Amino acid sequence: MTAFPRVADRRETLIDPFGRSIRYLRVSVTDRCDFRCHYCMSEDMTFLPKRDVLSLEELERLCSAFVRLGARKIRLTGGEPLVRKGVGTLIGNLSRHLASGDLEELTLTTNGSQLAHRARELAGYGVRRINVSLDTLDPAKFREITRWGEIGPVLAGIDAALEAGLSVKLNTVAVKGFNDGEYDDLMRFAHGRGMDMTLIETMPLGEIGGERVDQYLPLSAVRADLERRWTLSDLDHSTGGPARYVRIAETGGRLGFITPMTHNFCESCNRVRLTCTGTLYMCLGQDDSVDLRRVLREHPGDDASVEAAIREAVAKKPKGHDFVIDRSIGDGVLHRHMNTTGG
Ligand code: SAM
Ligand code: SF4
Repeated sequence: MTAFPRVADRRETLIDPFGRSIRYLRVSVTDRCDFRCHYCMSEDMTFLPKRDVLSLEELERLCSAFVRLGARKIRLTGGEPLVRKGVGTLIGNLSRHLASGDLEELTLTTNGSQLAHRARELAGYGVRRINVSLDTLDPAKFREITRWGEIGPVLAGIDAALEAGLSVKLNTVAVKGFNDGEYDDLMRFAHGRGMDMTLIETMPLGEIGGERVDQYLPLSAVRADLERRWTLSDLDHSTGGPARYVRIAETGGRLGFITPMTHNFCESCNRVRLTCTGTLYMCLGQDDSVDLRRVLREHPGDDASVEAAIREAVAKKPKGHDFVIDRSIGDGVLHRHMNTTGG
């Protein structure tokens, strides 16, 4: 009997100059957010004018072009993706690629503030897993790090997501002098609810005021500290991304470490990032970019031009990045914020 290739097998694959297949698109659907986390934004952020931001239709057109070119996973992020008006429609429309089998995963990274009333809807669209950011369990400290956020709705959002059947992973940014004493509690909270947890090193993105060097806490030190109380064993489990996972024997749960500053994860990088203005960044840590909004708006209805521009962009994906946080040479900051590039 003749074996017919699956639809996905017939699709083109984007391969960069270093032989990496680009399978993963992260999309910042808005630069806006209802929080102002200290490591991410300044208090008086100026957000982009609406005309510069891609419409939902434009976002969908670009995402669909990536799917045709072989993307298997799309993560919506921001800013806060769930504060973008109409984001449910975008997710609903993109879910047709899940139904067709062309897309393996459609997922989100969210601060959780809107999750309590959105979780069921997301599950209904075929979203299976989400990442929720949570840096502390203490309501006062939560207010402090987010500048005004309330933890209650976020915790309710996590419960709602679990109830809706979503797998939830907790993302915690390691901030020196802020949450270094809380990782045990956060881990018990996550693993007690069947959630993975990932610790993230502070990355030098965007000018946020304050001293970035003072926030930087190497995860090698965090791991060494955790090893005094917990039994950590390395896992092969990989998401194709920068997280290295361990199993915690005492909880049975998984803990990931994202260490852009102390480890280089670029060799296996399978991702590109699209901002809400349609700028495609081939690397989180480099400024090389391509303006896909211009191509979209100059060629309405001509998807071949959009696909050609994406191919051309991927052909320029750099080998890797070079973040540096060092007092002697300044803070090595890249002049864009995490909320524009998407975390
Ligand atoms: N608003 C959503 C949220 O907070 O999950 C999605 C966007 S946020 C930019 C994505 C992730 O990036 C979050 O987990 C956040 O904690 C992380 N992040 C933001 N700024 C960062 C920085 N300077 N270094 C490391 N992680 C950062
Ligand atoms: Fe908003 Fe997420 Fe940035 Fe915090 S990390 S300010 S929640 S975009």
